[in-house]
Amino acid sequence: MDLGITGKRALITGASKGLGRGCAEALAAAGVDLVLNARGAEALKATASDIAARHGVTVTPVAADITTAEGQETVLQAAGALDILVTNAGGPPPGLWSDWGREDFIRALDANMLTPVALMKASLPGMIDRGWGRVVNITSQSVKSPIAQLGLSNAARAGLTGYVAGTARQVAPHGVTINNLLPGIHATDRADALDGGVAKAQGITLDEARARRAATVPARRYGTAAEFGAMCAFLCSVHAGYIVGQNILLDGGAFNATL
Ligand code: NAP
Repeated sequence: MDLGITGKRALITGASKGLGRGCAEALAAAGVDLVLNARGAEALKATASDIAARHGVTVTPVAADITTAEGQETVLQAAGALDILVTNAGGPPPGLWSDWGREDFIRALDANMLTPVALMKASLPGMIDRGWGRVVNITSQSVKSPIAQLGLSNAARAGLTGYVAGTARQVAPHGVTINNLLPGIHATDRADALDGGVAKAQGITLDEARARRAATVPARRYGTAAEFGAMCAFLCSVHAGYIVGQNILLDGGAFNATL
């Protein structure tokens, strides 16, 4: 399918690997020029060169911590006028409800709620002026179905979801859509880190921890970054203009609900 977005310009944060990179790959395959961000400059540069070489699009790497005001300024300056924004950053650490103090919550809110809000506030006016735009926020299945040990993520992402629900309807009249993609378990370094914690706590191998988790998913496997990216690119396509303010689960059926 021709996604109709060849020559558009996208910013993807948290994009040197994992789900952000999956989105970058799929948008590049659709002919979109990219500005990619992550903190680690070396891995980011390698990802940018690799994607540019394989897809023949322009890819500009901007290394910065996107959860800081300075990082956001640097990245937005480099990005310039955007048609597409995909927000992403690392997730907060796991723990117990009684572990977390005010500073932990502030860090989680900054990373997983206020950073996407700031990026949207900076990008939406230009999209509105040009009468076309696409925003996809990478959140988590935890918005619909809490992951008990990820209380910081559950809380911060629920806040972002509420903001998007209203904002998506305010910008829709201008041809701009905002939607959230909610990953269930996907095979990335983040999943390895979480499974590593489970393996250590339960005295089992990493492979055993993965197999046990996969067995709980109706699809009986982890999702891939490529599958995730394909959905992201579709939401950014010309065909998705009537999809507004939705929270789309990509979880292999893990969330058990009829509707
Ligand atoms: P990942 O494989 O660890 O990749 C995270 C990417 O974001 C990397 O490129 C990383 O590069 C970058 N990043 C992290 N913190 C950043 C920051 N402060 N500023 C700029 N870039 C940053 O993670 P993932 O699995 O793709 O997960 C992406 C998001 O989806 C996370 O928020 C995660 O919690 C959520 N999620 C993932 C899963 C899953 O199963 N994978 C499930 C539910 C939710 P640098 O470290 O170099 O900055």
